[in-house]
Amino acid sequence: MALSEFNLIARYFKQAQLSNAHTRLGVGDDCAIYNVPQGFELALTMDTMVEGVHFLPGCAPEALGHKLLAVNLSDLASMGAEPSAVLLALTLPAVEEAWLASFAQGLFALAQRYHVDLIGGDTTRGPRTLTLQALGLLPCGQNLRRSAAQPGDVICVTGNLGDAGLGLKIAQGGFASPYADTALTQFYLPEPQVAAGLALRDLAHACIDISDGLVADLWHIADNSAVAAEIYWETLPLSQAVQHYIATTGDWQLPLVAGDDYQLCFTISPEKLVDLNIAYWVIGKVTAGAGVAVYQHGVVQQLNRRGYEHFSA
Ligand code: ADP
Ligand code: MG
Repeated sequence: MALSEFNLIARYFKQAQLSNAHTRLGVGDDCAIYNVPQGFELALTMDTMVEGVHFLPGCAPEALGHKLLAVNLSDLASMGAEPSAVLLALTLPAVEEAWLASFAQGLFALAQRYHVDLIGGDTTRGPRTLTLQALGLLPCGQNLRRSAAQPGDVICVTGNLGDAGLGLKIAQGGFASPYADTALTQFYLPEPQVAAGLALRDLAHACIDISDGLVADLWHIADNSAVAAEIYWETLPLSQAVQHYIATTGDWQLPLVAGDDYQLCFTISPEKLVDLNIAYWVIGKVTAGAGVAVYQHGVVQQLNRRGYEHFSA
């Protein structure tokens, strides 16, 4: 993209004004420079969205810009990190100005809300692939890991489960719902739980963001912490949209296995719950043992699948 690469970057991705106090140098030089304040360390994460795999051709670019950033901010949130700056690698089949303008609008609208600067990236030609790397700040030694769950903890989530999965079904034409708007918004424009992650940092033990489905992600906590997790289906927070979907189809597993909700799932000592100033739902408990068990009306249930895995058969 030699001819217009510089113009393209300058027009769509160079911020007129930097909004994070610690950015020393943004887009335009060989490297960006970020000043990590004393007493803090960086949390780093990266996510890629490939056309045809993570989003369909023709998907609204504004939603893609939002979601690409949201999924990375969600990873920072799950570690308790405060988002600070991002780098963007764009591979595009052609320079389409309308697409770029709309994509940048979606990305910057969310970035500004969290005082996150786009400080650099790379732009190449090829099949549409969107990669974003995010940096966040953690006070040295303080973080929320998957490996920190303890028997006796309760398991909580920060919000409704299954809406994004329902949104995907609706977008694919697989279900018609009177509550389509809620589900589609959750699917296209997920809200990263940044404030919750920060609030949990000093109180929770383990934390993960729900990207592949509650059970699949909780399985990571159980494995990494060498504990077992019990989930009580009746306690799952469900929107009217998902309740209606389950009542209509009988598919009660949706909120357990559908991905893309980007709520946080965390474990915490029950006595710490009173100090927690965020919305949360207690959905289960951590015990000694291994694996994840889901109880419905007191009976252990078998699941058809755990959740979304790219390389599963
Ligand atoms: P170099 O060839 O030295 O790697 P580039 O020509 O790739 O530099 O990029 C020039 C500047 O624009 C760099 O500061 C780079 O970080 C930035 N940049 C390139 N692509 C993007 C993008 N998609 N989003 C944000 N910044 C970008
Ligand atoms: Mg380059």
